[in-house]
Amino acid sequence: MSIKVLCPDVISKIAAGEIVERPASVVKELVENSLDAGATQITVEASGGGIDIIRVTDNGVGIPADEVELAFERHATGKITSEIDLEAVSTLGFRGEALPSIAAVAEVSMVTRYRDDVVGTAIKLKNGAITSKGKQGCPRGTTVTIRDLFRNVPARLKFLKSPSTENGHISHLVTQFSLAFPEVKFNLIINGRTSFRSPGNGSLRDVLVEVYGLETAQAMLELGANEGVEGAVLCIHGFVSPSSLFRSNRNYLSFFVNRRCVQSRMLTYAVQEAYQGMLMTGRHPIVVINISLPPQEIDVNVHPTKNEIKFLHERHVFVAVQKAVRNALVGSAPLPSMRISPLPPSAFTSPLFATPPGDKSTSLVTEEREGPEPRSQLPILRVVGQLQNAYIVAEGPDGMYLIEQHAAHERVIFERAREQQLSRAIEVQGLLEPMAIDLTAQQQELLESQQEVLYGSGFYLEQFGERTYLLRSVPAVLRKQDITRVLAEILDSLGGLQKGEWQESIAVSLACHGAIPTGQSLSLQEMEELVHQLEQTQSPRTCPHGRPTMIHLSASQLDREFGRR
Ligand code: ADP
Ligand code: MG
Repeated sequence: MSIKVLCPDVISKIAAGEIVERPASVVKELVENSLDAGATQITVEASGGGIDIIRVTDNGVGIPADEVELAFERHATGKITSEIDLEAVSTLGFRGEALPSIAAVAEVSMVTRYRDDVVGTAIKLKNGAITSKGKQGCPRGTTVTIRDLFRNVPARLKFLKSPSTENGHISHLVTQFSLAFPEVKFNLIINGRTSFRSPGNGSLRDVLVEVYGLETAQAMLELGANEGVEGAVLCIHGFVSPSSLFRSNRNYLSFFVNRRCVQSRMLTYAVQEAYQGMLMTGRHPIVVINISLPPQEIDVNVHPTKNEIKFLHERHVFVAVQKAVRNALVGSAPLPSMRISPLPPSAFTSPLFATPPGDKSTSLVTEEREGPEPRSQLPILRVVGQLQNAYIVAEGPDGMYLIEQHAAHERVIFERAREQQLSRAIEVQGLLEPMAIDLTAQQQELLESQQEVLYGSGFYLEQFGERTYLLRSVPAVLRKQDITRVLAEILDSLGGLQKGEWQESIAVSLACHGAIPTGQSLSLQEMEELVHQLEQTQSPRTCPHGRPTMIHLSASQLDREFGRR
């Protein structure tokens, strides 16, 4: 095989393959150009999944007549000029590759009028070569039309999904842009019908209404301005869903860094950490997080699609995001309140105490109280008594609280264990007689690699036989009968987790097994002690799995139910 330099046509198709993966990639590049051109109104039209036609119209600065051809030359860009600029990219585009790459795999026509020009320019390209160019009257701004995408790249065409799937990608992309640029009015027209519109008034909450609906948008919690971030170098703003609002996958996490939409495992992980103990497994939050930092602090030139970035101080960003999200959540954890429904106001029988058998319409339901609750702290509660050996009835300044004893104690133990792990001051109980434990090969492997983490949580083991270990101490919260089971459970659960999650997972297991079980009768003093401990926790309203620890029936609700108001 002799070595030959590839001809320019092949080179540009290879490069195009990296940038233009599917119709949505074309939309992305065109919208980025419109945004870089300072547009405040951008209309995206797509038909046939973007294969037949994609058109992006903007009211940006436009391109001067004598530069239009240049825009389609590879590595021609008006955005950076030197390597120094590359270290601090502030525009979305900078590689000067998009237009020529698109022109290599589709038919392109552009009509543009530069702000100072009286007349616009129209240009057409086919197979990357200009087929016509001339003057044309048009409003200020640029319209780019792409037809027959990938017709000359059958291999790529074959791998595309159905038009509706490709439309879905385009919609997702445009909504992401609208979240990153609330001051820009986006209009998306799919197969001739408006499918999305953003208000463009600068309010992110208003964009959320269009993207996720009014109810969700209203429930979202705003991140405090730069909360917990030292110096003003790193700015974080956006919205996160309260723990009562969730989705079943991670598609609702939107991250923008200097307004560029990015995929980042680190950021996803930071958010997960912030929600730890507030969302049950399999539930995921909705977040829109904007991070801005000096362009020198990031490298966007990692991949041609510019979706990935590198942070210079990754750890710093991680901590700041986690803190900002956590702060918004703590203190806003909604307290479930009781609703007795439906009940005519004139009804004097309270279903709370007399539920007609089989009548679901009058059964008790818990629901999240609307809007964020300003304090995370509990009011001082007076214990009244215990119900069914499972619930503590307590009175607060505003009505009645029903506290689930097991979940409440889980929360107390969880936070205590976390505190001890972090301060490396674990309360342990030494075992007078060491316990012999047999492990499976897998558990043994985990134990060998995790010994330090387990030790740091209060489990001290020594190898005794081939797979037998002697347990000499355990965390103080554990009861003796549970020890072997808990240890096996911990070893099994650590297997599927990332290193940074181990300690927390151990704390959850300890809480689960160390907590007072349901069914145990408690003395008044024990209940008072538990409620007092719960009052001291940071997130008293949920157990570490995210379930509520209590429900609240306010005095006014009670009055209403009894028809006194
Ligand atoms: P890049 O965006 O990386 O510079 P592109 O190939 O996407 O490269 O675009 C090349 C150049 O064409 C841009 O630098 C810009 O000067 C000009 N351009 C492209 N689209 C527009 C637009 N919608 N409005 C104004 N100028 C544009
Ligand atoms: Mg570009």
